[in-house]
Amino acid sequence: MDATELSRRFLEFFVGRRHEVLDGASLIPPEGDPVLFTTSGMHPLTPYLEGRPHPLGRRLAGVQRCLRTTDLDDVGDDYHLTVFQMLGSWSLGDYDGPRSLRWGFELLVNGFGIGIERLHATVFGGDDQVGLDTESLRTWEELGVPVELTTEENWWSNGPVGPCGPDSEIFAWVGDGPPRGSPGTDERWMELWNHVTMRYRRQEDGRLEPLPQRSVDTGMGLERLQMITQGTRSVFGTDVFEPWMSTLAGLWQPDRRSLHLLADHLRASIVIIGDGVRPSNSGRGYVLRRLIRRVLTDLWREDRTRSLDEVPDALIEHTTSRFGQPADRGSVRAVLIAEEQRFARLLDRGRKVLGQFGPGRTPTADDLAYLHETHGLPPDLVAELLAGMSS
Ligand code: ATP
Ligand code: MG
Repeated sequence: MDATELSRRFLEFFVGRRHEVLDGASLIPPEGDPVLFTTSGMHPLTPYLEGRPHPLGRRLAGVQRCLRTTDLDDVGDDYHLTVFQMLGSWSLGDYDGPRSLRWGFELLVNGFGIGIERLHATVFGGDDQVGLDTESLRTWEELGVPVELTTEENWWSNGPVGPCGPDSEIFAWVGDGPPRGSPGTDERWMELWNHVTMRYRRQEDGRLEPLPQRSVDTGMGLERLQMITQGTRSVFGTDVFEPWMSTLAGLWQPDRRSLHLLADHLRASIVIIGDGVRPSNSGRGYVLRRLIRRVLTDLWREDRTRSLDEVPDALIEHTTSRFGQPADRGSVRAVLIAEEQRFARLLDRGRKVLGQFGPGRTPTADDLAYLHETHGLPPDLVAELLAGMSS
């Protein structure tokens, strides 16, 4: 099953259980949202999870593209991407958490054929304000899935105030050989699907106020699901990344970690550009700028003549169509190339300016401020240039 087929089956499963399908929204949250990018499927649904009636009803499902800048440092491992697709299902004051867990189990085991011995659950163990989540614990015991109890890992919130509640997470074993330990003791258990029961709103003073209705919010990474069903070692081995892996390996022969980083960051950049963002020095544009610069820094370390212009149209199209974006490949390419040229000029200027500093001199805080304000050289870039000049 390729990614399209997996999403189709996921939605079909929930439509068969009277869910309405949401159109996936863009990576850009609605006006007034303090967050730069959509980080999860529930993100655009926040007002409805807090009680506002949704025009499509009380049972929803969908596929949402997400971006997490918080995961940037993890990219290159086996299953953290900058941009990914999240499959989601929601009960807005309709069915309860145990029903959601049972459906989740049914879909993974019967629908996608994942062996029950490869699954492990975690459940909220209780703290001084909210008790053990006995309903979820009992549900997993009945289904025959091992459970680990935690407090911190199984409490979901989107910040210090706002909707929150206990969650139950489904992990899949991605190690060689038979599963060992539990998600808390062996990191070869990969989180696959999170089921959150939104029951409370955290007040400014820290108190928990029960919400007028209990909702369920679930999210599962499509690329991770694909990794499990296709039996690959990482998300980069799945068919979503196949054209990226073979093309980039042929073009630039990067090592494994570099290959993952290049594929992830270039794909993320294309999707961000496709959603209308342009490189800039602040906000969303700066996230895009950093992604492109990380790619170029990696590429040019080996060979200064490499260019993003070598990325074939087919990869751009493969990505925009995967994310259902209308973006035309010519304009995506033009943005990438303009940013590459800008970065090249900045590096040349930076080397010249730093050359005048004389060898062995470490820039002071004043120097760094001057380099940034007058020459547009941010401190991290200065550090990298100096490292490059001394090696
Ligand atoms: P992890 O602990 O593995 O980073 P998480 O706790 O951040 O996961 P959630 O916020 O619960 O994950 O998101 C719901 C689901 O989205 C996860 O179970 C996972 O399948 C998927 N997911 C989360 N972050 C990523 C990512 N960076 N790349 C790919 N899939 C992701
Ligand atoms: Mg995470």
